[in-house]
Amino acid sequence: MRGSLDRFYLVIIVFFFALLLSGCSKQATSDPVVSPTESHPNEHSVRLIDGKCEVTFLGEQVVLETTNRSAVAYFENGTQEEVPLTDLFEWRGNSADYIGPQDIIGVWVDAPELSVTHVAPEALAALELGRVLIILLDGLSYYDLEELKPVFLSGKTMQSARTVMPSISPVALATILTGKFPNETGITSRDTRQLQVDDIFVAAVKLGKSSAMVEGSRKLINTSIDQLLNPDISGDGSTDDEVFACAKAQLDAGVDLIFVHFHGYDDLAHTYGPLSPETSVKMLELDAYVETLCAGFSGMVLVIADHGQHGTTGDKLGDHGEFRLLDLTIPWIQWEQ
Ligand SMILES: [Zn+2]
Ligand SMILES: [Zn+2]
Repeated sequence: MRGSLDRFYLVIIVFFFALLLSGCSKQATSDPVVSPTESHPNEHSVRLIDGKCEVTFLGEQVVLETTNRSAVAYFENGTQEEVPLTDLFEWRGNSADYIGPQDIIGVWVDAPELSVTHVAPEALAALELGRVLIILLDGLSYYDLEELKPVFLSGKTMQSARTVMPSISPVALATILTGKFPNETGITSRDTRQLQVDDIFVAAVKLGKSSAMVEGSRKLINTSIDQLLNPDISGDGSTDDEVFACAKAQLDAGVDLIFVHFHGYDDLAHTYGPLSPETSVKMLELDAYVETLCAGFSGMVLVIADHGQHGTTGDKLGDHGEFRLLDLTIPWIQWEQ
């Protein structure tokens, strides 16, 4: 079987090469505001010559040794796997064919090692020792957070992590809560809500620990525990203030494992675009919520996102769901306190 990588994915691949090279190439920049596919559409090319990858980025040619390089392949069935760059690709000028055994969405050169599949095992390992607070900031890409530098969160060590495809909330949430790729969770689109595997709350019960899942106004997926839903009672157009108050009450009640889902950043990024004045103000609000939730809490804290967003034009100025750097790269901020 042979999955063809079209030019779109090639541009993304080249962008990752470019990111890799940005340290040594003075012209190479990675502007997190603009998506790689929109930023410099005609100034990239890639060729494989004698086992070396020749990358042209912004008019500058660089030859990259590919023999020992690998990449994370995203497969159509929802799984991800590290693959060698040389063996499984046939390069021809500006196109490449993947010649592995499965249909492929794309490959990510030098992808983050951390993945949303690591959230559940990390949380459960910490839960055996004490309390765990997981805060999901919907739609916040690693690059947005790096740019916005809110006071509290930027004082912590931030790593990047990769999410799943399609890069949308229910699919990512299912993986975050189970540690399994979409082919195992059973949630591969917005059309399904029923998990096919146990979530972390089942595991928490086995550890004798209490759990709470604090959501916005509606359930995105079904979980083993009742979710605490929070409609916009204050009428300010966001559920974040209600989610914050609900989460605070659960923390004060001493619940062991608390999962909190703030939706406001994603909502505003769709309307005004990521890194707009509106999302920047929202980031400050969320940063203060996170700081207040952490005050007086003892245990492991993990702040993540489900996916990022890239800028668009038209009715909406931000969107996600695609195989793009900005959609796939999420922040991972974890600490003990
Ligand atoms: Zn989302
Ligand atoms: Zn969204």
